[in-house]
Amino acid sequence: MKRKRRLKKQAKLMIFIIMGIFIVMFVKYQNNWQKDNQISEVLKILNEKNYDEGTLKLIHDKLTAEEIVDLENKQKIKNLELFIKEKYYLHKNLDRYLTYFTTHPEENPSDIIALVNVSGDYEGYSHVKEADLTKKNLILVNKYNKLAQSYIPDGLFNMNLTYAYENRKVNQEVNEAFIKMYKDAKEEGYDLFVTSAFRSFDYQQTLYNNYISMYGVDYANTVSAQAGFSEHQTGLALDILTPGVSMSDFKNTKEYEWLISNSYKYGFILRYPENKTHLTGYAFESWHYRYLGEEIAKKVFDEGITYDEYYAFYLDN
Ligand SMILES: [Zn+2]
Repeated sequence: MKRKRRLKKQAKLMIFIIMGIFIVMFVKYQNNWQKDNQISEVLKILNEKNYDEGTLKLIHDKLTAEEIVDLENKQKIKNLELFIKEKYYLHKNLDRYLTYFTTHPEENPSDIIALVNVSGDYEGYSHVKEADLTKKNLILVNKYNKLAQSYIPDGLFNMNLTYAYENRKVNQEVNEAFIKMYKDAKEEGYDLFVTSAFRSFDYQQTLYNNYISMYGVDYANTVSAQAGFSEHQTGLALDILTPGVSMSDFKNTKEYEWLISNSYKYGFILRYPENKTHLTGYAFESWHYRYLGEEIAKKVFDEGITYDEYYAFYLDN
């Protein structure tokens, strides 16, 4: 009797499972059918232009309806297929990818996309926009995005002498994040120290002019920002060293190693990494960290791209 009941229970369970599988398959089939239908419509309009099937699928998957209409109204775009398959493809930049490609045919499409997305196809300090203050902690300041002379962030906080040189001011949230990072690092035997934090427009101007008189304009431009173009004016950037070590030697310290693998957990990213000067506009700075908050810092870290690239692709659309 007991056995019979158990068998009945098992049979019921089997029927449920089979029904479940059937429903999932049905929904999947319907979705695919809808999508195939849409693709075939795109195909219909665009196939006269002889795009290959893979490109048509990418056009369907990546472009907005408006962008697809725009393509329909144009002649077939030569070399579109080289670019559209790349992860960070932005259709609004297509013309610039293609222009750059004609003069640099030896470069990888993915490298061209990265460069153009961050405006690297333009000279630094040209095509300059006002930095978008509505982005708050995620604001982008670089050689194409500028802060006004009058801009001073709200709520600057004087850092405690335990953590920084005298009179180093920073955004309060950044201060708290740094203290947390400082304490965890200390527990593991690493000594961190802030040498520079918020810098006003006027202070940056003096700094930049000093670099020019010492090294000339070209070199100054790779190591220092013009006033209004420095991330330090946001109050969200810190220069972090370890006591007794110069800026140029910091990259060889265990503190640097610790920071590049752990700082994202506290919301900081290495802002000007090695070999990314063509994207960030700055030579490698092992000491310069930018606060983005834990969530976005982790995303930037996981993607392995510069913040300029991240912002262009995910936040400026
Ligand atoms: Zn810095």
